Amino acid sequence: MAVQTIDNTTEATPDTEPAFGPAVALSCRECGERVPLGPVFACQECFGPLEVAYDLPTGDPEALRKQIESGPANIWRYAPLLPVPADVVDKPNLNPGWTKLVKADNLARELGVTGGLHVKDDSGNPTHSFKDRVVAIALEAARTFGLKTLSCSSTGNLAGAVGAAAARAGFRSCVFIPHDLEAGKVVMAAVYGGELVGIEGNYDDVNRFCSELIGDPIGEDWGFVNVNLRPYYGEGSKTLAYEICEQLGWRLPDQIVIPIASGSQLTKIDKGLQELIKLGLVEEKPYKIYGAQAEGCSPVSAAFKAGHDVVRPVKPDTIAKSLAIGNPADGPYVLDIARRTGGAVEDVTDEQCVAAIKLLARTEGIFAETAGGVTVGVLKKLIETGQLDPALETVVLNTGDGLKTLDAVAPTTGPTAVIRPTLAAFREAGLA
Ligand SMILES: *Cc1c(COP(=O)(O)O)cnc(C)c1O
Ligand SMILES: [Zn+2]
Repeated sequence: MAVQTIDNTTEATPDTEPAFGPAVALSCRECGERVPLGPVFACQECFGPLEVAYDLPTGDPEALRKQIESGPANIWRYAPLLPVPADVVDKPNLNPGWTKLVKADNLARELGVTGGLHVKDDSGNPTHSFKDRVVAIALEAARTFGLKTLSCSSTGNLAGAVGAAAARAGFRSCVFIPHDLEAGKVVMAAVYGGELVGIEGNYDDVNRFCSELIGDPIGEDWGFVNVNLRPYYGEGSKTLAYEICEQLGWRLPDQIVIPIASGSQLTKIDKGLQELIKLGLVEEKPYKIYGAQAEGCSPVSAAFKAGHDVVRPVKPDTIAKSLAIGNPADGPYVLDIARRTGGAVEDVTDEQCVAAIKLLARTEGIFAETAGGVTVGVLKKLIETGQLDPALETVVLNTGDGLKTLDAVAPTTGPTAVIRPTLAAFREAGLA
């Protein structure tokens, strides 16, 4: 039994729950400088990215496991590990997460994976991409900071996720996208009733524009989920790591294949796995992290293959528009993680992406967007080139729904036959 002690040196416990749960500060990823939790994203000392630092729960991992398992079937089951207040479940939110981890035996057979293969299928989120996870955390931060307008620079999925979450939580929203996105993404971004602005330029132009807006008086009271709220946004991706391990029975997989746009998701999945180990929620063992890019926007893959530490920006040209970030903010950290864990970063062509979308659909009944095609395509290529051991237990992510990128497969997918409604015509078509 715990013995209660009186310690005069500690401050009195505040009456209110801490707004950020176990989070205690922001710390610089480069120099370690700590600053108070706020709507800031860059270190004043060295301009390095800030990330959320925690005072994580200590004590019996079994008790924490039980607490999580009795929580809701969404990301808030992990509230004790996230920068959110304990009463977050009571607030209006889209409550994303707890998506399926599909045991993909058919795909495994086709690819020659013998160690077990799972697809973490995030197309099941409220706006059909993994972006609902990151937005949910950023929105709680915006609420706490009293920001009034929710915004983002988006390659498509984020705009829809922000629009929907803002609608639900009663925020104004104004989101920015490259003007030439897929129809499915544009409609999803607009339908929730917020403001949607198409920028004449690519994602990197959109992002630059948003940085300017933040520095201007117009941007006061604005929460750009992936710019000034980026430290909180990033933490949402950790829930993918938590869910994968919990769904495997509180175990680490041997390797995970993850798509890369800015690289935030990949780096935060690694952070989440490290936390699970530190908390004793999973047993420590080596794991490998693999990154996936489209050839037409592969600055991180190119740097990995060349043995470089820096990522040289490119001008994107690929059908995988949700991954089309030519100057990925977290690129150097992705390189670190892939190298440290013994993984790799690889890329596939648009043709290989489309073939992989169809492969996943045909084998597992999962219709992925182009980002999922890139990731499954890269898994296939990693096996074929001997970079990934198929005898190890593997998880591959599908981060978005194929209905959003119909154009990718529409030209090569359609009815087997179009016939008159008669048995004779059916017989004639050779399908009987
Ligand atoms: C945004 C996005 C990603 C990855 O984004 P990061 O910027 O690397 O975190 C992956 N898949 C889809 C479908 C996305 O929309
Ligand atoms: Zn710093």
